[in-house]
Amino acid sequence: MTITTVRGVRDILPEESPTWQLLEESARQIFAAYGYREIRTPLFEKTELFARAVGATSDIVEKEMYTFNDRGGDSLSLRPEGTASVVRSFIENNLQRALPWAVYYMGPMFRYERPQKGRFRQFHQMGCELFGAEGPLADAEMMAMIVRLLRRLQIDDALTLEINSLGCASCRGPYRERLFAFLQERQAQLCGNCIQRLQRNPLRILDCKGEGCRGVARQAPAMQESLCPPCADHFCGLQELLNGMELPYMVNPLLVRGLDYYTRTAFEVTTTALGAQNAVAAGGRYDGLVAEMGGQAVPAIGFAMGMERLALLLEGKGLRNGSRSGCYLLAVGAEAGRQALFLAEQWRSAGVAVQMDWLGGSLKAQLRRADRALAAQVLILGEQELAEQSVLFKDLRDGGQRLIHWGQVVESLRALS
Ligand code: ATP
Ligand code: MG
Repeated sequence: MTITTVRGVRDILPEESPTWQLLEESARQIFAAYGYREIRTPLFEKTELFARAVGATSDIVEKEMYTFNDRGGDSLSLRPEGTASVVRSFIENNLQRALPWAVYYMGPMFRYERPQKGRFRQFHQMGCELFGAEGPLADAEMMAMIVRLLRRLQIDDALTLEINSLGCASCRGPYRERLFAFLQERQAQLCGNCIQRLQRNPLRILDCKGEGCRGVARQAPAMQESLCPPCADHFCGLQELLNGMELPYMVNPLLVRGLDYYTRTAFEVTTTALGAQNAVAAGGRYDGLVAEMGGQAVPAIGFAMGMERLALLLEGKGLRNGSRSGCYLLAVGAEAGRQALFLAEQWRSAGVAVQMDWLGGSLKAQLRRADRALAAQVLILGEQELAEQSVLFKDLRDGGQRLIHWGQVVESLRALS
């Protein structure tokens, strides 16, 4: 029996890496251009961190976390998302003196979910968190940044930006009660899961995908009508700014998000190109979370995007780079092989990239491998070239070939790049 990966967990093979590198590099450039710096937090934390930050009644904490006791008996969890760790780090490192604080992260997250297309148990997110900015300018800029990244990747055509306001500590309570009363009268139409959620987390029912629940949700009182004046101003302000930037969006009163910590602005970017797993990015404001976690009251906003889903969109566009690149050095015979190693090292020291054929054998076999690896050029060192201190230079793109002296190789390769 061979050993396989764990269910819902996969390798990113070398063929896929260019897509992932394109994603990461584009994101790094754009996040940095907006003033975000990278933070790298641990892959596991005390379970309590997620229970408190994400919310003990959230689906993530109740059903999806990888939780275990370590050998010392402490309960730890693999991180299911990035915000909790960033908030912990912000407080633990006393960064409240350094506001505003803007960071981005990218890396694996872990959730015990039912694996399907675009949904895994180990998946990757890249996200940003901005601490200290209270007004809607920050919200609007963050959305513009996300859209800029998606445009840069040329995957913005089937996407929609949806926004909503979830209110704050003062207006959400009364809304929750109105909603609870409304839903309680219609319990018969709700799914089993939502009947259970009714007491603990009625807002989440708005977001249920079940047929009956969706019918009820469409009739339900909307949060927007219950916002207190400061929250209503914030939401109006945000929409004005999005209009001003000509950033298309939709107000979705049923957008509530699965994490308990959100206040005011919540948003999602969805696509029609991925079937059921339609959210590619999601985020919102969490003005109460830092204080809740033991820090001072600091307004904050953040988002995360799912990298597997972005990679699927990129692959759907055929953006994988299939063009020829790089130079291969092929040597025929033992002495030529030895000399090729020394020459390749010299040329690399001079700053050009040369890849050796690792397996050797006949020239024909080596040429076939270089062709399959999509090399752009090959340099061939045979017995005769060895005697003349030259190589046969072949351009696999146009078929041209000529002999060049060892001393001219670096110059010739530089001239090509
Ligand atoms: P969903 O409704 O798809 O479960 P979510 O609300 O749980 O998403 P968030 O916690 O907001 O998702 O995470 C942000 C983004 O991370 C999602 O929009 C999605 O692109 C991605 N994501 C979340 N869970 C997974 C997963 N299990 N596999 C792959 N990507 C995921
Ligand atoms: Mg989920």
